[in-house]
Amino acid sequence: MSAEATNPATPGPITPAAQRRRGRPRIDLRRLGRAALLGPAARDRLPDAIAHVAEAHRAHHPDADLDPLRRAYVLAESSHRGQMRKSGEPYITHPLAVTLILAELGAETTTLTASLLHDTVEDTEVTLDQVRAEFGEEVRYLVDGVTKLEKVDYGAAAEPETFRKMLVATGSDVRVMSIKLADRLHNMRTLGVMRPEKQERIAKVTKDVLIPLAERLGVQALKTELEDLVFAILRPEEYARTRELVLENSSRADDPLAEIAEEVRGVLREAGLQAEVQIRPRHFVSVHRVSRKRGEMRGADFGRLLVLVNEDADCYGVLGELHTCLTPVVSEFKDFIAVPKFNLYQSLHTAVARSDGQVAEVLIRTHQMHKVAEAGVIALGNPYAAPEAPSAEEQGDGARAADEERADPTRPGWLSRLLDWQEAAPDPDTFWSTLREDLAQDREITVFRPDGGTLGLPAGASCIDAAYAQYGEDAHACIGARVNGRLARLSTVLSDGDTVQLLMGQDPASEPSREWLEHAHTPVARIAITRWLAAHPAPAAPSEAPAATRRPAADGPAARPAAADVVVDRPGATVRLAGCCTPVPPDAITGFPVRGGVVTVHRVECAAVGRMKEAGRAEAGVRWGDTGECRVTLYAESFGRPHLLADLTEAIALEGVAIVSATVEPPSQQRVRHTYTLELPDAAHLPALMRAMRDVPGVFDVSRAQPQSATP
Ligand code: MN
Repeated sequence: MSAEATNPATPGPITPAAQRRRGRPRIDLRRLGRAALLGPAARDRLPDAIAHVAEAHRAHHPDADLDPLRRAYVLAESSHRGQMRKSGEPYITHPLAVTLILAELGAETTTLTASLLHDTVEDTEVTLDQVRAEFGEEVRYLVDGVTKLEKVDYGAAAEPETFRKMLVATGSDVRVMSIKLADRLHNMRTLGVMRPEKQERIAKVTKDVLIPLAERLGVQALKTELEDLVFAILRPEEYARTRELVLENSSRADDPLAEIAEEVRGVLREAGLQAEVQIRPRHFVSVHRVSRKRGEMRGADFGRLLVLVNEDADCYGVLGELHTCLTPVVSEFKDFIAVPKFNLYQSLHTAVARSDGQVAEVLIRTHQMHKVAEAGVIALGNPYAAPEAPSAEEQGDGARAADEERADPTRPGWLSRLLDWQEAAPDPDTFWSTLREDLAQDREITVFRPDGGTLGLPAGASCIDAAYAQYGEDAHACIGARVNGRLARLSTVLSDGDTVQLLMGQDPASEPSREWLEHAHTPVARIAITRWLAAHPAPAAPSEAPAATRRPAADGPAARPAAADVVVDRPGATVRLAGCCTPVPPDAITGFPVRGGVVTVHRVECAAVGRMKEAGRAEAGVRWGDTGECRVTLYAESFGRPHLLADLTEAIALEGVAIVSATVEPPSQQRVRHTYTLELPDAAHLPALMRAMRDVPGVFDVSRAQPQSATP
């Protein structure tokens, strides 16, 4: 039985807490409650209680068959009959309210049918088999997806395991999460009847898990209301202060936003552009954020202007007029139509300033974009109906730039990645904490791949995160990256809009480097690396390969670790050469003790050194030992020609040097870059080797992998 279902036979179903309820009771719900008390209407007639649902549903889907809704209501009402919510209302008011939320957002009939039934299997005698028999497999799947696992069976793991189950079910049918989000919204709206500790606990999970999921699925309307409800519970004082600010502003005589809106309407009318200009008040959390950012709130800060147009092209038309006839704040311009966000959101964002310095933010979108911005995946209709083929014009270059995050909105990239790592999470605790961590990361940045695809990553993600996001565990073979065309360390932190090309080694026995963990932020990367390391405990001898495979060329000398000695102030410690800067004698080097008695050796000018020093990490004295053998990564820049690879590898072999790995990037403008990780029997031989490689016809430069500058 779910937490909020109370049998009237148990004492005190109507608690004094009901009087402490936050907010006004919803008029709709009262009416629904009364209708529900009157019992189901005559057979085949649409019961009054679902009139609102039917009306909202028909507004989005005029041809919808309402019979499944009628039957689902009748079953739900009869099976929940006698159960009360903590507020004292009949239990059926809850599934009805949840279904109304979804209907208003434009959900299709199957979602609404399942939503009416969503608590029946959990809280009543109804079984999943019965649901399948009466409503079909899709409805059964959705109801099963949102049905909680029992505390009796799972104990403290029930909540994490329920979410895991729900996310897995969402992977196959995103409508599961639509229902869960609406369910949580109604429970949050009516949370005031619970004990304060319980309110707080539920609000925290909502904040950490449900709100980020709503954001990622693009369900803005649910997300903003959930945010305000959580805000009121977790930050009551700030909430009250914000409320005060909003009330104060609404009582002001002048309304700069209304004045700017009027001005915008005039500009667009004159330009002959058909557009609807609305004022969208910010929700409380947004007001709170803006007031903290700007210090003082001015009238125009309390809302934003929304310009709705019919065609995509009109968005840019409106933008052009606003930027011509008003004073644009250019730094505020963002094009989420050409460069979409990771969720389904599309809009142009800009801002215009008045002569008195007040700035109004303006959102420009089509009616269709608006529907998707508000309802996200819920607006997709049945996600499994055959998609309409895009017309030739729509299939322009922009559309062809396949966007992985958006290619299949029912299975967005972040969800696939989440499902990948959850499988690897060893226990419910790890899953639960990693899930909250994963969802806490702002999915702010989009990076581009050379093939035109994109990756959505949290802010702060490095090339290592990009590699695991793109290749999963195959990223163990990543040996380097180019960021915006230039070679970059794998530890490089990516910025929004960067183009990232990942250089992959060809050896299937590739190994990730332990210090990748220092630069991996995403769960998929951290779990994959940690798992690999756990399965491959470090040998006692110094042996960590840099970001490259360790297999020697068949005819070369056996691969041996490079030659950093023994650590001066820690005799016997295991030494590893850092993959980020591949130190080679006679480089100036320094070491940092890491876990397990291992010391990582970096070149002193490596960016990681600066970062670790800044973080207060102690250095260990290291110096080069006597063995001359070393490992180094070289780049050979050449003009593309046949047999180049064969000639280069031959030149290397003739110098007696083993090739650990080699990568050839696809030629760009007749030029190719080869990346070789090589094992030299003697470090002193490096200059001769580089000369020999430079002598190969077509090669115009040979250079060593350079460490990044130490600037943060
Ligand atoms: Mn429920």
